[in-house]
Amino acid sequence: MSTAYRALNDGTLPGVLSELPNVRDFLGGAAETWTVEEVGDGNLNLVFIVKGPQGAVVVKQALPYVRLVGDSWPLPLERSYYEHMALSEQARHAPRLVPKIHHYDRDLALIVMEYLTPHVIMRKGLIRGVEYPLFAGHIAEFMAQTLFNTSALAVPAAVHKQRIAAFAGNTELCKITEDLVFTDPYRVAKLNRWTTPYLDDIAAQFRRDEPLKIKVQERKLQFLTSAEAMIHGDLHTGSVMLTPQDTRVIDPEFAFVGPMGFDVGAVIGNLLIAYYAQAGHEERFGQRNPYRHWILLQTENVWRLFSRRFLELWDKSRSGDAYMPELFTEPEGAVAFAAEKQRFMRKLLTDTISFAGIKMIRRILGLAHTEDLESIKDPALRARCERKALTMARRMVLDADRFTGMNEVAHAARAVL
Ligand code: ADP
Ligand code: MG
Ligand code: MG
Ligand code: MG
Repeated sequence: MSTAYRALNDGTLPGVLSELPNVRDFLGGAAETWTVEEVGDGNLNLVFIVKGPQGAVVVKQALPYVRLVGDSWPLPLERSYYEHMALSEQARHAPRLVPKIHHYDRDLALIVMEYLTPHVIMRKGLIRGVEYPLFAGHIAEFMAQTLFNTSALAVPAAVHKQRIAAFAGNTELCKITEDLVFTDPYRVAKLNRWTTPYLDDIAAQFRRDEPLKIKVQERKLQFLTSAEAMIHGDLHTGSVMLTPQDTRVIDPEFAFVGPMGFDVGAVIGNLLIAYYAQAGHEERFGQRNPYRHWILLQTENVWRLFSRRFLELWDKSRSGDAYMPELFTEPEGAVAFAAEKQRFMRKLLTDTISFAGIKMIRRILGLAHTEDLESIKDPALRARCERKALTMARRMVLDADRFTGMNEVAHAARAVL
């Protein structure tokens, strides 16, 4: 394949793919017969579906700028390199929960992967009110496997440090999170937007809320310095494609070695956004009550199944350099270690709740909003949903350590008026 980067289009893509024997064979037939459709709905990249007589693939190509904003905001093509590295690592630990990779081209910043069908983006399913009975178990498995197995609980120090080094160059993607998630919603920033004028007051309050800002900055420092595990980094419900039977996590271009709670918090925070958006999607008052209940139940299920699985993996594998088994051979040692694992999970719960709240706030007061809320046409109704979400999110950030379980979070979410 020729190597110089150029943004591909439906005219040029088949020629490039036809030079890849495995992709060519997978699609079948001649390149001229393949159909190409650009379907990228994300903020950053090009995504094409290419269909041949025998098979179909998805081709994701990075652009040298932020798609949502345009070429005034350059962004390195190398994010595709980190996405591919993360996808490969996730596939080692949770092979059934990510799309399979057919091909990767570093120069073209291009990944050819499995076409997920009839999967839909979870966020769209949540807007329509679809229940996914296996989602909580699948996402819990994905997070437990990827977070535990890429942490120093599972691997020796040298491996952990190599992984930190391998992802350390993904700084510009991390900077997007640092700015858009942890900073801009709390200051006057050009890129911020919210449902105005309805939320002008609360947006101004948040910018003057010193205790809230301090808590968020404490979490930003954690995001900047805590190298616990390889995290997905953008694990919202737009990065999950599923059917009632099958769940896949896509789009790990923000991956780096960071705090585990950032991933778990992204899932919980986005479920809560979906919860508060339901009032905007019901045809008559209360119609979505059973579905609201289902969503909140999922926040509890995700945490319960995740923490159980994480602890199981920890029991099975003590091969990391932290908490070496030889230090805890006596009966008292086993007791102390068991208590320590409980403390570890409690801290991870606190981190999760706080990051979840921060993620909710940025989706309402910052640059990138979510379809759950944006698709509510009546701005007054949308603002009522958003105000409740902001009220809950602020509590989650300020009182993260007071919740002793996700059931208490769900209870508090229901109580917001
Ligand atoms: P971005 O980084 O720009 O957000 P994503 O990886 O999230 O890009 O992909 C954008 C969209 O493309 C997704 O929301 C989904 O609709 C579609 N898509 C991405 N990967 C696949 C896939 N493997 N199979 C089917 N559709 C996909
Ligand atoms: Mg995406
Ligand atoms: Mg997307
Ligand atoms: Mg992305």
